[in-house]
Amino acid sequence: MKNLLGGKGANLAEMTNIGITVPPGFTLTTDICNYYYKNNLTLPDDLDSQVSNALKQTETIMKKQFGDETNPLLLSVRSGARQSMPGMMETVLNIGLTSKTIPGLITNTGNKRFVYDAYRRLIMMYADVVIEKAAGRKPKDGEGIRHQLEGILNSYKDKKGCSQDVDLSGDDWKTISDKFKIQIKDQLGEEFPDNSYNQLWGSIKAVFKSWNGKRAVNYRRIENIPGEWGTAVNVQAMVFGNAGKDSATGVAFTRNPATGENEFYGEWLQNAQGEDVVAGIRTPNPLNESTKIENNKKALSLESFLPEVYKQLDRIRTKLETHYTDMQDIEFTIEEGRLWMLQTRAGKRNGPAAIKIAVDMVSEGLIEKEEALLRVSPGQIDELLHPMVSPEEETTATPLAKGLPAGPGGASGQIVFTANDAEVWAKNGKTIILVRDETSPEDIHGMHAAAGILTAKGGITSHAALVARGWGKCCIVGCGALQINSKDKTLVVSGKELKEGDWITLNGTTGKIYNKKLKLIDTDPNSHKEYAELMIWADEVRTLKVRANAERPEDAALARRFGAQGIGLCRTEHMFFDPERISAVRKMILAKNEEERRSAVMKLLPYQRKDFKGILDTMRDLPVTIRLLDPPLHEFMPQTNKQVNKLAAELNISPNEVHTRINNLHEFNPMLGHRGCRLGIAYPEITEMQSRAIFEATAELIKEGKNIFPEVMVPLVGTYTEFENQEAIVRQTADNVMEEKSIKFEYLVGTMIELPRAALTADEIAQKAEFFSFGTNDLTQTTYGFSRDDIGGFLPGYLEQKVLTHDPFQSLDQTGVGQLVKMGVDKGRSVRKNLKIGICGEHGGDPESIDFCYRVGLDYVSCSPFRVPVARLAAAHSVLKNT
Ligand code: ADP
Ligand code: MG
Ligand code: MG
Repeated sequence: MKNLLGGKGANLAEMTNIGITVPPGFTLTTDICNYYYKNNLTLPDDLDSQVSNALKQTETIMKKQFGDETNPLLLSVRSGARQSMPGMMETVLNIGLTSKTIPGLITNTGNKRFVYDAYRRLIMMYADVVIEKAAGRKPKDGEGIRHQLEGILNSYKDKKGCSQDVDLSGDDWKTISDKFKIQIKDQLGEEFPDNSYNQLWGSIKAVFKSWNGKRAVNYRRIENIPGEWGTAVNVQAMVFGNAGKDSATGVAFTRNPATGENEFYGEWLQNAQGEDVVAGIRTPNPLNESTKIENNKKALSLESFLPEVYKQLDRIRTKLETHYTDMQDIEFTIEEGRLWMLQTRAGKRNGPAAIKIAVDMVSEGLIEKEEALLRVSPGQIDELLHPMVSPEEETTATPLAKGLPAGPGGASGQIVFTANDAEVWAKNGKTIILVRDETSPEDIHGMHAAAGILTAKGGITSHAALVARGWGKCCIVGCGALQINSKDKTLVVSGKELKEGDWITLNGTTGKIYNKKLKLIDTDPNSHKEYAELMIWADEVRTLKVRANAERPEDAALARRFGAQGIGLCRTEHMFFDPERISAVRKMILAKNEEERRSAVMKLLPYQRKDFKGILDTMRDLPVTIRLLDPPLHEFMPQTNKQVNKLAAELNISPNEVHTRINNLHEFNPMLGHRGCRLGIAYPEITEMQSRAIFEATAELIKEGKNIFPEVMVPLVGTYTEFENQEAIVRQTADNVMEEKSIKFEYLVGTMIELPRAALTADEIAQKAEFFSFGTNDLTQTTYGFSRDDIGGFLPGYLEQKVLTHDPFQSLDQTGVGQLVKMGVDKGRSVRKNLKIGICGEHGGDPESIDFCYRVGLDYVSCSPFRVPVARLAAAHSVLKNT
């Protein structure tokens, strides 16, 4: 249904089916949109008659006729894609108002103000959507027509001395409408059509065209929505929230979309039409008393203004939640005290809210646990790990101003005033806060690039706030104290002037704004009650284990708190960089013979033993995979002359000799050079020292009564013989340590699979190796022949031209690299049935890649500590989606 009718159309039909009052209308399917684009922007021949027939039914129900002089029906033409794209496409309201129909409508309603208010809205929307955007016209004066017309309206209001739209009379709106029409003709060179049917067809085509409008295309790119889907068009009888004092329009969420709290949460405007609330131009009133906050406590709530209608709306809220078993985002209009529903869809929410809603709905009996797990995306778990403003620093800071908290969390960054600047600054590695007058869907690309968003106008239900929340962004809207001048790139607030590049901090949870950089601190997800519960359910469902990549005990401890079931990759090289150790490392590298080298290497033993003891102890009862030295040796060599001189003095040789040695270590392709097991084979002392450090640490901990499970991992193996060589050293060292300490311990020796040859010969390697860990970073480099450090030169172009659909270093290339992984698994297990297999590349924290790992039968994934919770949920999703 949704594929054809779009989400909006399908849900309007469904609301009608369950007895909710919706203005009658009909939907032109997404197929017609696709036809339109395939046939050179023409519509099917029979569409005209189909629309006429459907329109007749709407006319019958409404007892009005479209284009009629005495009793005219007005229509809205609304976009609606398969997946909601809030505010990204166009809508035209009040279609059908012409010099012919206006007098009739005035007679019928006795409300001239209402009719001309509707008329000026139609003219503005039509000019913007149909005459300008859809036709690809540029107004002469550069600025968009909507903006120009708003300017005319504002200066008219200034002249009259009224600040609110509601202060204007019917005659005012009539005068403004005439001014609008003149401006349109003058700027765009086309007349606003004075014929109902021309307005209708112009709008229908324009909405189809808005599928490929700039905003929609940007949004689709960010959200990965295919261009082939197309939009449906909903033609619907108008109902009027601007018909007088007992009329209103509003937007609401059946639960709070920022916190997940089970409270009816929304905004409304008296005597207004829908776009006023969602476009973020005016800051609307709160829906009810209980959700009021400091900022709007004096505003009039719908609950107290129209209590009966509010109660009715609250009943619809329950009905919709029970029917859809999910939090809904609804739009409604009240025409002279009568309630009409205009839209319902699954509400966008941020991570903390998604988790709370899912878990609450299980206890309310609305959904099952499995469904709750699927309701939360792995990315939303990630949001819980996002920073907040340090409470310590915040208590001593004075807020500059306060707005509406539209997206919780904290963000600190430099101010920029336009979406384009936001994009550019972010590309240059700056952390920025986008500050705008209103939250406009035109700014979508800049909002995506920003760390936080701050606006002077608009409410929490505005389109842009809701998009920001969907991305888990920190966002504050409706901060009326801000006077923004985006041309000069300055803003004035509480008597202070801030300019582009100044630092500000947003607390999106409270709405407070600070004019300096406050520290952000990590949050502890375990303090979110529903999170803990959801993760228990995830752990019950999933079969893939999740480990972490960590090399310091602190990181390991964090990983454990996040639920890691072991360490999948402990790199040992960073341990060499400590100032105390680096000189021993350099001596080892520059040693002239084995004896010298051995003595230098053995100096490192106590340090390494201590390192390993720390991490093994932290992870007691769980396995820890420690990788032997991997990087090419030149990485450890001194860079500056001063360092060279110091080393030369220590070694009692000339600086020149050091330089010569460094030059000798130079490699053309270090990533394919003397590294990985090739080091351990050339310098067996290194492997021996590292294994000894691991096993001595193990022995000591076991003596302390702890359960320790080390797994020694040989890197960059390409042949059985390479592994065999290193394995012999490791096992011999283990035997020696056991004998010296008269103790027995368990351990495993295995290898990374990170070269295509290792995958191709996995059955040979598995004869000796007790575990495999796919190092998919190197495996991707070597399979593609891409140097990971040099992809910056061409990968962005590849992605832009769609030569590649995604960065293979971020999400595993399942068709290519994935084949090698699968082959490695199958061949490895063909000789060793219970071969333990994991993945430790960056991909171990990527949900799509995790799903692949599940499908090819890996035992575990390993990722950075902060990705562990994400991976736990993703692993549960894999089970639920694949069975
Ligand atoms: P979007 O997809 O951008 O939310 P909509 O199609 O929902 O766009 O339309 C925007 C606004 O126009 C809505 O908030 C709604 O209140 C108003 N609107 C749309 N159709 C009607 C109608 N038939 N009667 C009254 N208002 C309408
Ligand atoms: Mg719209
Ligand atoms: Mg809408």
